[in-house]
Amino acid sequence: MAQVHYFAFNPFSENTYIIYDESNECVILDPGCYTEAERQTLSNYINDNNLKPVRLINTHCHIDHVLGNYYVAEKYQLSLEIHEGEIPVLESVEMVAQMYGIPQVKKSPDPDPEKFISEGDLIEFGNTKLEALFTPGHSPASISFYCEEDNFLIGGDVLFQGSIGRTDLPGGNFDTLMKSITDKFMSLPDNVVVYSGHGNPTTIGVERKTNQFILNYCS
Ligand SMILES: [Zn+2]
Ligand SMILES: [Zn+2]
Repeated sequence: MAQVHYFAFNPFSENTYIIYDESNECVILDPGCYTEAERQTLSNYINDNNLKPVRLINTHCHIDHVLGNYYVAEKYQLSLEIHEGEIPVLESVEMVAQMYGIPQVKKSPDPDPEKFISEGDLIEFGNTKLEALFTPGHSPASISFYCEEDNFLIGGDVLFQGSIGRTDLPGGNFDTLMKSITDKFMSLPDNVVVYSGHGNPTTIGVERKTNQFILNYCS
């Protein structure tokens, strides 16, 4: 059974995910570790649990989700897997870092063109399968990862507890985002746990019943 562990890293309090199972293989999603202490926290968890990182994946390439890409890629000898449509976002990270005044941002490795992820792809590691869902709107080519067997969804910045992703950044679009949420997320069972890019986990059922953005959009 897959386990999900997360850390809130960097000035944006971004959730970095480690997903692993009894095989001890793990995937690292959106490594946001920025300080030496955060990099150590990530690696200590991997060491302490005897995990073997086998894939490095970004849900999308906003600066807060990619700050630790170079570290994870180098330390664990992994190539970067993203949706091809996020390349312009990844390429703009340096400029965005200057804009926000964030110093010493190390450049992410180039994404692996052999491993671009698109809708319906299965991310397999250990005994676990994650299904990639194409969920644009917060960024041009955000992807989410659904684990049907273990009832969870890694949703990036698409949906938050009581809220939704912002749509005012380049490539963002409100209607596209709401369509991603209603078509791709709200078609999942109520008991699916949603792990977001920021803040606490929620469930599909709770958001379906209480999220004002969804209630307004669907009414
Ligand atoms: Zn984002
Ligand atoms: Zn974010």
